[in-house]
Amino acid sequence: MVIVSEIDEARAALQDLIAGANRIVAFTGAGISTECGVPDFRSKNSPWQRLKPIDFDIFVADMLQREEAWRRKFALDDIYAQAQPGRGHWALANLVASAKISAIITQNIDNLHQTSGVADEKIIELHGNGTYATCLACGKRHELNLIRHEFMATGAAPICTDCGGIVKTATISFGQPLPETAMQRAHDAATNCDLFLAIGSSLIVYPAAAFPIIACQHGARLIIVNDEKTPLDDQADVVLRGDIGDIFEPLAT
Ligand code: NAD
Repeated sequence: MVIVSEIDEARAALQDLIAGANRIVAFTGAGISTECGVPDFRSKNSPWQRLKPIDFDIFVADMLQREEAWRRKFALDDIYAQAQPGRGHWALANLVASAKISAIITQNIDNLHQTSGVADEKIIELHGNGTYATCLACGKRHELNLIRHEFMATGAAPICTDCGGIVKTATISFGQPLPETAMQRAHDAATNCDLFLAIGSSLIVYPAAAFPIIACQHGARLIIVNDEKTPLDDQADVVLRGDIGDIFEPLAT
C-alpha cells in the first residue's frame, strides 16, 4: 500500500491510475458532498449527531417518533436541500460520460450524482434517496414539498393518499432491509471492475463497506481517497490522503 498526501502527486497518481484502467467503479460516501455544504455523518459537530435518524422499527411502531423523524428531516433539509454538486461529483460525471466509469455505487442520499448529470442507470443507491418519500405499504412516490406544507400546517406525520399507509423518506434507516436490487447491482459492479475508487467514506458502515473488499477479492485495484485513515487502507493499492475536491479538481472541468 502506498499513501500519497502531496496534492500534485495525488492528482498525478489518480490520473495515471484512471488512464491505466478499463472498467472503473466509483464508491462514494458522505465525504464527497461536504464541500457542497452537506455535512458528513461522523465528523465532530455533524448535525446528524444531533438530528439522528430514527431506527426503522421505532419509526413504524410509534407515531410520535414518526413526527419527530419528519421534524428532523426538515431541519436537515434546511441545511442542505439546496446543495449543488462539488468537484468530486463533476469529475465522476465526466468519467462516466467518457465511459471510463461504468457505475457509481453511493452510500449518499443527497441526489448529487443525479444533479451532476449522471444517468440513473449508472447510479446504485445503497441507502436510498432523501429527496422524495415513498409509501411503505404500496410504494407510491410522494413529493417532499407537499408533505412539508401539510406537516407545517398540522404537525401530523404523512399517510399515503392512495392506501393510507405510512409514508417515509426514500432512505434506508438503521434496521431497514437494504434494497435487494441495488445490493445485487453493486455486487455485480464490484466483481466486474479493474479499478475500484472508494471516495469519501469512513468505510465502517456494513454491508456497504464490504464492496471494496469484494472488488479486491475479484482482482481489482483498490484506491481510497479520503482525508483520514480508514480500516481498509491496508488493503488498498494506493491511498490518496487529502481533500476530495482538490484531488479531483483537474478532472472536474
Ligand atoms: P462518514 O461520515 O462515515 O465518512 C465520511 C468520510 O469522509 C470521513 O472519513 C471524513 O473524514 C471524510 N471526508 C469528509 N469530507 C472530506 C473531504 N472534503 N475530503 C476528503 N475526505 C473527506 O460517511 P459514510 O462512510 O458515507 O457513512 C455515513 C452514512 O450516513 C452513509 O451510509 C450515508 O447514507 C449517510 N449520510 C449521507 C450523507 C449524504 O448523502 N451526503 C451525509 C451524511 C450521512
